[in-house]
Order: sequence, then C-alpha cells, then structure tokens
Amino acid sequence: MKAPHFSVADIIPFSWVDGPGNRFVLFLQGCNFNCLACHNPQTIPVMTPRSTDMSVTEVIDRIRLSTPFISGVTISGGEATLQHEAILSLFSQIKNDPSLNHLTTFIDSNGNADHDIWDSIASVTDGVMLDLKVLDDALHHELTGGSNKSVLDSISYLNKIGKLFEVRLLLVPGINDSDELLIRTSNYLVSINPALRIKLNAFKRHGVRASARQWPEANESHIEKYRKLLSSHGVHNVA
Ligand code: SF4
Repeated sequence: MKAPHFSVADIIPFSWVDGPGNRFVLFLQGCNFNCLACHNPQTIPVMTPRSTDMSVTEVIDRIRLSTPFISGVTISGGEATLQHEAILSLFSQIKNDPSLNHLTTFIDSNGNADHDIWDSIASVTDGVMLDLKVLDDALHHELTGGSNKSVLDSISYLNKIGKLFEVRLLLVPGINDSDELLIRTSNYLVSINPALRIKLNAFKRHGVRASARQWPEANESHIEKYRKLLSSHGVHNVA
C-alpha cells in the first residue's frame, strides 16, 4: 500500500499566529468549503498544479530544521482533515520520535469533518482550532457554499473528547455581526462549554475574491464591541 502523502500548498517554518507558541505550519491543498471571505482561495481546489506532493518523511525532515525554534506543529489548509491519513502518519511519527515528541500537534480546521475522522487522529492530536463561520445555517450556505451542521457537530464532539483548543469567529461588519446573531452564538458557545477559548478575527479584504471585496473591514473598535457583547452573554475566555 502506498504510504500517505501530503498535497502541500505552503510551509511556514516559524509562526506565532497559528496556535500556541512558535510553530511550524503546513498548509494543505484542497478544501470542502468555498468561502467568499477566504484569504487563500488558491488553496481551495483539490487538484492544482500549484501544490507540491510531499511524503511524510520529507515533511519530518523540514520540521527537524525548525525544531530548535518551535514548540509545535500545526496542520492548516485548505482543510487539513481532508488529508487525515497523512496527518495520522505524521503526528504518530512525531509522538514516537524522542527527538520530536516535545512538539505539540495541532490542527487548524473548518470543522467540516465527521466523527470517524476525528477519532482516527485524536490520539496523536493535542488540539484543534476550529472556525465557526456563522451560526445561522442559511447564512452559512451563502458564505461558504455548505451547511454548518458538521461544523457544529465537530465543535460539540471535540469538546466532549477534550481536543477542542479554540473556536474562531471571523466577523464581517454588516454580514455576520448582528447583535441578534452574536447573542445566539454566545448562548450556543456557553451551552457547549462556558470556559471555551474563543478567538475573534477581524475581516480584512486582503486576498479575498471579488464578491467579498466590497465588504467593510472590521477594525479594533468592532472587535472590542463584539468582545463586550459576547462577554455580557457569558463568553469570557476571548482571545
Ligand atoms: S474553510 Fe478556510 S480554506 Fe476553506 S474556503 Fe473557507 S476560508 Fe478558505
């Protein structure tokens, strides 16, 4: 049987913004959503001549070059879980190698994955950072091209098995930031876990496709307003 390979869109050897500490980040090619606000739409197609095929051994070799400077490895995308077999192989090798097993293993996901996938990688994954694009399913369809049912299910399941590190909300003024929607979102997040870590991300136009280029950007005062609204409805652990 052929050993699992990664289809890689990009590699960042050191990053401070893709999980806790300084991290090696592998961005995988291919996504099962098609978000209007995607900052890297070139990572959406599964098949593209722009991606690079890499064996797990080749990725490990790249990680070794970064080990003096990093505390962990993050697999991002695209949608990381589409390549869960290669993730299982990579993270298992990290956990079983005495020179690498001090590294934490994180996944950055859109949450559009089922329990079987999470179960297959949970034992070698330290945490998942998961995007909730919007709680309202009809609006989720408009913004991503798909339902949020599996996303909500993933949030609940990963919280239950102790693997949910953070839920991230990308907020776009006038699109998915109404008070009514944010209050519903707060109630939902508190019902999952009142101590859940939430990260608020401000929409920026950089890199997005034409349809989202007319949307207003969010700034620090928007984020502060969202933070206060969430906090007044029980969401206190906001990064
Ligand atoms: S889930 Fe992420 S990578 Fe996929 S289309 Fe949406 S923003 Fe882009």
